[in-house]
Amino acid sequence: MLNKAYVEITNQCNLNCAFCPKTRRPPRRMSTAEFAAVAAALQEYVRFLYLHLMGEPLSHPELGEILTVAGQKGFRVCITTNGTLLGQRGGVLTAHAAVLHKLSVSLHALEGSGAGLSMEAYLESVWSVCSALREQGVHCALRLWNEGGAAERNGEILRFLEEKTGVDPEMLPRTRSRSRVLGKDLFLEQEQVFAWPDKGAAETGAQFCFGLRDQLGVLADGTVVPCCLDHEGDVPLGNLFETPLADILASPRARTLYDGFSRRAPAEELCRRCGFATRFNR
Ligand code: SF4
Ligand code: SF4
Repeated sequence: MLNKAYVEITNQCNLNCAFCPKTRRPPRRMSTAEFAAVAAALQEYVRFLYLHLMGEPLSHPELGEILTVAGQKGFRVCITTNGTLLGQRGGVLTAHAAVLHKLSVSLHALEGSGAGLSMEAYLESVWSVCSALREQGVHCALRLWNEGGAAERNGEILRFLEEKTGVDPEMLPRTRSRSRVLGKDLFLEQEQVFAWPDKGAAETGAQFCFGLRDQLGVLADGTVVPCCLDHEGDVPLGNLFETPLADILASPRARTLYDGFSRRAPAEELCRRCGFATRFNR
């Protein structure tokens, strides 16, 4: 059983962050019927569904229907969002809170994208939706993954959180996963700017990864990839709209990838250039 599948319900986003590699794949959204087929195919193999890989899940017009289907199939769902659509679409999440396990909001996206939105209005809408979800037991993680990058507005964000919680967030200790507990079901995650794997980059010395052990990704066209970082579909393992997951996982390419990590010798060019996976070196 895999812990999670990243299902890309759309590869389109309403922002244009400087740190985002984007994708050269054609713009595509999964229909609710296609999502239902993916969810059925994953049902026996995966615990949690994450409704993103590239793209902004809240921009999907059928997000409510998709969450309903996920719930019917017995999944708990995690959503990562840039948060800019929470003012308009947050009601879809609160209406489906029973299906949600966690909402992660990338607070670094507003500055990183240069979007001309009011920071105060943005933070208030994020806070409002998170408060409603937390009342229903949904974990909310506020991300500032911009250390070493565009982080000039972090002070405003931290002051806002201090006003809301009554505590200076940076005075709080970090947990083992490096997050800070701001309140019940509310976490602040501060990390370095994230480096996406890129086949054109230099080798990083990555040796091991949990791709296909703990997680896999399903792109908007049904292509299965080993992880949430394969934004171009550089490691296509098969198409879930055409092939059962068991056959995809048993394919020579998938087996070679899995065994390569077991031997600390990544088989895929992309994986040998993955900065994220270096954290698993030991
Ligand atoms: S919000 Fe996410 S998907 Fe959208 S441009 Fe920024 S990093 Fe990329
Ligand atoms: S090494 Fe990087 S690119 Fe390869 S499966 Fe792991 S996270 Fe994905």
